[in-house]
Amino acid sequence: MPEARVHKPRHLPSGGPLRRHVKPKGARRAIVLAADHPAVVEARTIFPTTVNEQDHPRVKNLLTSGHNSRKIGKAVTKGRWRGMPIFTLTLEERATCPRSCKEWRSCYGNGMPYAQRLRDDGWLMTGLAFEIEALAERHPAGFVVRLHVLGDFYSTEYVGFWRLMLARNDALRIFGFTAHAMESEIGGAVLALDFDFHDRCRIRFSGTDEEGLGSLVIDHAADSQHVLCPAQSDATECCGTCGLCWTMNRTVEFVRH
Ligand code: SF4
Repeated sequence: MPEARVHKPRHLPSGGPLRRHVKPKGARRAIVLAADHPAVVEARTIFPTTVNEQDHPRVKNLLTSGHNSRKIGKAVTKGRWRGMPIFTLTLEERATCPRSCKEWRSCYGNGMPYAQRLRDDGWLMTGLAFEIEALAERHPAGFVVRLHVLGDFYSTEYVGFWRLMLARNDALRIFGFTAHAMESEIGGAVLALDFDFHDRCRIRFSGTDEEGLGSLVIDHAADSQHVLCPAQSDATECCGTCGLCWTMNRTVEFVRH
């Protein structure tokens, strides 16, 4: 990872703030936390005040319009999901992710101080079910949920929740990525979702190019061996205008940013 800098905790003589992470200069440089950074050790975000439960006044909806995210987009404009609005779900990075994630220290959430992360208060799935059913009524021709802008499937029960939602709501489509290995218990449950709902569910596996369901992070565009995300090179505006992740049976690549 030649372009990334590791930021070590620095104890200032004045007793001032510990500068454990620094926004790197220049584009496409990952913010890599030190191995002993508390967020790395404790499996949490570096922005703890952005993590809230669903009853917090700052949380208006659990599923947020993709309009709020430049790289996601408000609606799909091409392909078989054309015309469907997009919503996003953001959980807490690392807290919900497997420690095996290859980007554990360099998670792009390290550079997202304003993203509102949801914590499961024990009722998150209940709240999500209400919102999904309301969206299914409002958009009977279909709507898309991007899982998870940050975070991951945190239990097999939670994967089972999405299975139930897909089974109950024909209008629901989901896409996203997981850092769980296909061979793991949670990864296996996600893979089964991909197969059982192949026309409405496309969760890709990070760090692999297997099964046409892979996604890889590469250091430079010149290293590409598969298909580079066109939104990263501004060849398309956003996921809504692209759709490769849920239509293509090839591995998608992202340049580390
Ligand atoms: S390849 Fe397309 S759908 Fe996938 S993340 Fe990039 S813009 Fe979104």
